[in-house]
Amino acid sequence: MQSHSTQTVTQAPMIDPFGRAITYLRVSVTDRCDFRCTYCMSEHMTFLPRQNLLSLEELDRLCTTFIDKGVRKIRLTGGEPLVRKNILHLIKNLSRHLEAERLDELTLTTNGSQLERYAQELAACGVKRINVSLDTLDAVKFKTITRWGDLNQVLRGIDAAQQAGLQIKINAVALKGFNDLEIPDMLRWAHGRGMDMTLIETMPMGEIDLDRTDQYLPLSMLRASLARQFTMTDIPYQTGGPARYVRLAETGGRLGFITPMTHNFCESCNRVRITCTGTLYMCLGQEDAADLREPLRASPDNDLLSAVIDEAILRKPKGHDFIIDRRNNRPAVSRHMSVTGG
Ligand code: SAM
Ligand code: SF4
Repeated sequence: MQSHSTQTVTQAPMIDPFGRAITYLRVSVTDRCDFRCTYCMSEHMTFLPRQNLLSLEELDRLCTTFIDKGVRKIRLTGGEPLVRKNILHLIKNLSRHLEAERLDELTLTTNGSQLERYAQELAACGVKRINVSLDTLDAVKFKTITRWGDLNQVLRGIDAAQQAGLQIKINAVALKGFNDLEIPDMLRWAHGRGMDMTLIETMPMGEIDLDRTDQYLPLSMLRASLARQFTMTDIPYQTGGPARYVRLAETGGRLGFITPMTHNFCESCNRVRITCTGTLYMCLGQEDAADLREPLRASPDNDLLSAVIDEAILRKPKGHDFIIDRRNNRPAVSRHMSVTGG
């Protein structure tokens, strides 16, 4: 893959109709994955045809256009970003924007399965922090929840990432009757290794094989039970994401809560998402989208693409409204989390 220019293009920053500046882009580089987490996918998922995917060069061009338009942070996600073929080429190429100080952070969210192989190279590309999704430390439960995953492989990946100097945040989806009782031990483990941890509420995205009502655990409830074991103090720590953090006196570590269900965090939303086929989603919880693949391919310069992005940002909605209960037991949006990467 060839290197592209870092030439600074001055364009108007992206401001949505509610005055929010868009500075954070999440890129789902593939919808495929080597796991089948029960809350994320059904076991027999239909993936997008490979010929519909943007090439790595096209993804680079899209990311660069967003950087030209004021994006300062890019997170690669998926599906599993590290199973996309030659993904390191894209990461290496995007790292030129870090060197040119046009980008503050290049990061990724991963299930950790490929970290043992890639950790060193990621660090060499200027990646400083990564999120690793891990819902349990019990090998049998890990197999149950991921269907195809191997806990030891992920733990080796975490070791390798720490050895490479990457800071890690552990993300766990809170699942009723599955990992709620284990969270205190996971917190002690994560904090003992110098890793932050964030808990996420399960969101109604895409059809899965299970009933989400059975899995959904409001974090307000989990927080109340954690407060019986830990002394939690709210802290103003921010990573540019929607988590609200506390510090635990007993471990000294940070715990974040991402509460899309019980609290809308949309007021401060600074992000948009693109899929591996070049669809721009202005909100994780809404269906409205804009196709960027056609304008990207229609012209070698970025004017048309930029105009389509501007028009889409003007449609960014105020927020989402997820509901999970017995009467509303349908996905709020039809696409799976693996399409837009959370
Ligand atoms: N495969 C990578 C991973 O698991 O980290 C990146 C993509 S995954 C879709 C991103 C995050 O979304 C993971 O932390 C995962 O646990 C979370 N996730 C997936 N489906 C979800 C859902 N329905 N509700 C809440 N979080 C979900
Ligand atoms: Fe794959 Fe991540 Fe979804 Fe699990 S949560 S199936 S690892 S994309």
